[in-house]
Amino acid sequence: MPCLMIRLYGIVQGVGFRPFVARAAAQLGVKGTVANKGSYVEVFAQSGDETLERFVHILKNETPERAVVISADVRQCEDRSFSAFEIIESEKEEGAIFVSPDIATCDKCRSELFDKNDRRYLHPFINCTQCGPRLTILDAMPYDRERTTMKDFPMCPDCEYEYTHAHTRRYDAQPVCCNDCGPHVYIVGRDIRDAQAITLARKTIMQGGIIAVKGIGGFHLCCDAKNEEAVKRLRRLKNRPAKPFAVMMKDMDTVSRECRVLEGQEEFLTGYQKPILLLEKKQAQLCESISPDNPSVGVMLPYAPLQMLLFDYPDDVPMSDCLVMTSGNVSGAPICRSDEDAQKEIGSYCDMILSHNRRILIRADDSVMDWFEGKPYMIRRSRGFAPLPVMVSVKGNTSSLAIGGELKNTFCIGKNELLYLSSYVGDMADIRTVTALKESVQRLQELLEAKPQVCVCDMHPKYNTVAAAQETGLPLVKLQHHYAHILSCMAENDCAEKVIGVSFDGTGYGTDGTIWGGEILVCDTHGFERAGTIMPFRQVGGDASSKEGWRIAVQLIRDSFGEQSGEICKALDLCDEKTFKLQSVMADKGINTVTSTSAGRLFDAVSAILGIRKSSTFEGESSMCLEFEAERFEKDNAESITYEGELFNGERLETTQLVKTITQRFLSGDDRKKLAFVFHLALAEMIAAYCKELGGKSGIKTAALSGGVFQNKLLLRLTKQRLEKLGFTVLQHSLVPANDGGIALGQAYFALCNEQKQ
Ligand SMILES: [Zn+2]
Ligand SMILES: [Zn+2]
Repeated sequence: MPCLMIRLYGIVQGVGFRPFVARAAAQLGVKGTVANKGSYVEVFAQSGDETLERFVHILKNETPERAVVISADVRQCEDRSFSAFEIIESEKEEGAIFVSPDIATCDKCRSELFDKNDRRYLHPFINCTQCGPRLTILDAMPYDRERTTMKDFPMCPDCEYEYTHAHTRRYDAQPVCCNDCGPHVYIVGRDIRDAQAITLARKTIMQGGIIAVKGIGGFHLCCDAKNEEAVKRLRRLKNRPAKPFAVMMKDMDTVSRECRVLEGQEEFLTGYQKPILLLEKKQAQLCESISPDNPSVGVMLPYAPLQMLLFDYPDDVPMSDCLVMTSGNVSGAPICRSDEDAQKEIGSYCDMILSHNRRILIRADDSVMDWFEGKPYMIRRSRGFAPLPVMVSVKGNTSSLAIGGELKNTFCIGKNELLYLSSYVGDMADIRTVTALKESVQRLQELLEAKPQVCVCDMHPKYNTVAAAQETGLPLVKLQHHYAHILSCMAENDCAEKVIGVSFDGTGYGTDGTIWGGEILVCDTHGFERAGTIMPFRQVGGDASSKEGWRIAVQLIRDSFGEQSGEICKALDLCDEKTFKLQSVMADKGINTVTSTSAGRLFDAVSAILGIRKSSTFEGESSMCLEFEAERFEKDNAESITYEGELFNGERLETTQLVKTITQRFLSGDDRKKLAFVFHLALAEMIAAYCKELGGKSGIKTAALSGGVFQNKLLLRLTKQRLEKLGFTVLQHSLVPANDGGIALGQAYFALCNEQKQ
């Protein structure tokens, strides 16, 4: 009789996976065994061919709620003559390790939380085998209570019974606790605990106050999202004039009242990962300053019991159903995770701190996702997703540490074909973030029992991540930033073929010492060739120019209009005459000036020329507002627009010519929204035409789109459509960010594909 050996990799432990396999076998009359091998579950199955096919399908697709099968290895094996189906106990074997991310409070726990007759009524730490904190409280593997911060709370006899008995919902649930034995909430620095602390926090919010509240992976700053004054005050205190705040909404009814929810989105909002999802706003009750001039808002549902209790508590405080929940940190610094950090760093941003005594060992910011073609399009991959690995088909025997980039840093630990992308760490300009990075690397290496043989980092001579990489003492591989973006996209799509990589990004260090960022690369997993770029321009003013698009605009106009350019800059109100002269002298003499092909900066410049944003108060603001204007035009106009200009010349896209055309049309009265759209369309045309040319020469039929500029969904869609029309297979990101938060994955993929000879 046919017999299969099936190995299932992924989150298959502590989630009732073996009983599930046994039930499926009993149902179909399959004989064999299932065993837990530590890093995977191994099943031997014997039955008729058709039944086995059905059985494998169930194992892959009808898994228990919290299980994630990342891959399945199915092989024929010899007849074993099994007489029944058994669960066999087995020992841990060396190999891949899967650390579960934190899991949002499940529906059953939620109903117990609000059930007066339940012994965990209103318990702010309720959890079960299917839900609760995991990664953030974990000290070491294997995952059991002694190795989590729950070891501070000895179980009461009732909890102990549930923990040790297989028929309960809390069998083997490491963070299990109750009102008698669990952690407590309190107001920091005041003698107020438990119910009184929660009530005081709710009152403070409803009186227009701001509180800091400890969550699963760190503190949030929180206020009423319908109270304009409170939100404005938080903006002032946090020195954050315009960057959107995320909003936690009480339930799906509230979400539907405030936002348009597309098909498929509810599943993600209510799922066990509970990310922040960007949704289109309706003009309902949220105040404007939550996300000013922005058609969407980041929304999440409560994922920890304490958050549910903030919305709903039997204390007669009338409560808002929309709360701002923004990361509790100083801009650029890591999210606070202890009372001491919170008092020191965000104490002055809030009126009180609602905390608790369950320690957070690993920070986890909220994950943020956008939506593209009916699927998630990740912006920040963290809580709920990290550190689940990306698995690729390339086999190897490599352990690597990929340290990531400087902004939106994440790092990645590679162990053979498993690439464990970390939680979000932050921007490395802040020294606290650098410390957090080193600490997190250490901790994740221990958890994954990884001993890297090589460290991959960026090529930039001044990056703090490069310095941190050097400190590891490991052999270093320095990888070009935009190539790493494309490798990241290839890894996410499990591609090892030659591709045309379109890497449109902010700025990164090029192999020639200039600034790159609008690159078309012909690459495979071993190296790349810079096959094309946008037209280079001069970037004057060092770091300031990355926030001040008008500076780039001035140089692009000088390149296009020569002697007239002073007048044009004045007409566009980009800068006064004196500033124009200063900018010109600096550029011509090369003072604080670099040559750049940054696509991000090109967007900023066009935004400034069209009078949309002259400069940004947060990264990407100018180009984001340009995208919104273009989308508004597209929405209101059915007319088909074409771009007649030259698309490329030699190895350069004709982007400076495009800026010239747009400037002329704007000055002669053309609509700014329309021109914003023309800009997107023309870029997509240029990319497609250039890929066609390259594809014709090289025979490559796959294009990979990556880099922070591809967070722009309009550009992504227009480019993808054109490339597909030309017959290209288009690789894009989905669960790994296109921005710098994804490059560590590309770095680790490179290490795997290019094993270092020791
Ligand atoms: Zn639960
Ligand atoms: Zn208990």
